[in-house]
Amino acid sequence: MSQRVVVLRRDIHGMPIADYVEALRERLPNREVVHARTPAEERELVAGAEVVTGHALGPALLEAAADLRLFQCLYAGTDHLPLDELAERDVAVTSASGVHGPPVAEWVVGMLLSFARRLHEGSRRADRREWRHYQAGELAGSTVTVVGLGHIGRAVVHRLEGFDVETIGVRRSPDRGGPADEVVGADEGSFHAALARTDYLVLACPLTAETAGLVDAAALETLPPTAVVVNVARGPVVDTEALLAELRGQGIAGAALDVTDPEPLPEDHPLWTLDNVRITPHVSGHTPRYYERVADILARNLARVDETGTYADLENQVRL
Ligand code: NDP
Repeated sequence: MSQRVVVLRRDIHGMPIADYVEALRERLPNREVVHARTPAEERELVAGAEVVTGHALGPALLEAAADLRLFQCLYAGTDHLPLDELAERDVAVTSASGVHGPPVAEWVVGMLLSFARRLHEGSRRADRREWRHYQAGELAGSTVTVVGLGHIGRAVVHRLEGFDVETIGVRRSPDRGGPADEVVGADEGSFHAALARTDYLVLACPLTAETAGLVDAAALETLPPTAVVVNVARGPVVDTEALLAELRGQGIAGAALDVTDPEPLPEDHPLWTLDNVRITPHVSGHTPRYYERVADILARNLARVDETGTYADLENQVRL
């Protein structure tokens, strides 16, 4: 079995890929971790390697990687990979799913506190050097509904323990439970029943045919006028026009959006103009520990491969 692990050259999230190489070398002292710095080096080094890791795997590289058994993708989503061909060649694919839980959950908690305590109003007044009192609510005692109880949703709920809030988790298969005080299904009846008693609606589900437009005019109508919508999922999970209408008409109190529809949000988009909307440019998942966490996943998986001698039943293995 070849002990070589090839790291492809492209950096992600503005962080040098050499840091990932370093993180892997620390965790895999018995393997040769090689950094392919150019397209030619990539083609040369993947030949004969069983393990390759990087952001993507194009046709030329796939062809050159005749002995490939495992591709560790640097992204949580793997739909950009040639999955059919990888399946045909019996290559195991593992994703970076899970690495975003802590940073996204911290972003969510930060936004909940910011809205509850009106921290952005404080910042606005400080920017104007205006020492003038204002009032704020409390997060304690409120109900936070989290749609999606995967890596991100669960991390949000865990971090809310200690804030004295009620949590409702919404998921497709509620029988699988979760850390929320209550877990309900995603069917219309259960979803709207949860919305009606929600103060903060946190969206942490994947974008699918079922979740596109999940938060539509009807859902926004069911939310109380004091509710805040927090979206860290994907922009199209929320109907932007309906959201704008409710935000303008005081149908809901505000929105915190790390993702928007469209993305990037054009400079002249009306969402920018509302002072009850906080927008960040899809950065909630950024963390300086990104590479360390993916390296941990790959190291755990290679330990498993060494133990079992097969590339099966791996952590984050994508079903091909
Ligand atoms: P996971 O795959 O770990 O979990 C997804 C969860 O969503 C599961 O609990 C699943 O429920 C639930 N779900 C699926 N369909 C529905 C539905 N129709 N209604 C309600 N719940 C549903 O995903 P992650 O937690 O890792 O990530 C979630 C999403 O967050 C990603 O798909 C991505 O779009 C987004 N994301 C955003 C980032 C950012 O930077 N803003 C960074 C990373 C991810 P069940 O298990 O019951 O099927």
